Amino acid sequence: MENINDLQNEVKKFRDERDWKQFHTPKNLAMALSVEVSELAELFLWDDNKSSFDTAINKREHLQEEMADILIYLLSMADVLNIDLSNAVIDKLSKNRRKYPIEKSKGTCKKYTEL
Ligand SMILES: [Mg+2]
Repeated sequence: MENINDLQNEVKKFRDERDWKQFHTPKNLAMALSVEVSELAELFLWDDNKSSFDTAINKREHLQEEMADILIYLLSMADVLNIDLSNAVIDKLSKNRRKYPIEKSKGTCKKYTEL
């Protein structure tokens, strides 16, 4: 298991060996990321909640590839924007803990504005 910095370096190496950084504008990366998220969502299109578990099993390899595509673009975007994703995740979880205190949010999927 690689850590996030190792993965980011692998993604940068892949990109730089192909001279693709020139195409990695924030806009292009945001759009590519959105496309990959849509490709992931498409695997479950028209499933009901229960059958989505079957889809996750039956399309596991494809699912894995789309999840990897998403992370690759996210790591690429973090590189271009010089954002430390580890810190970003820790900071966002801290904000989410304040927005969703356990005593109010446990067992409910309500948005924080509804708690
Ligand atoms: Mg894809």
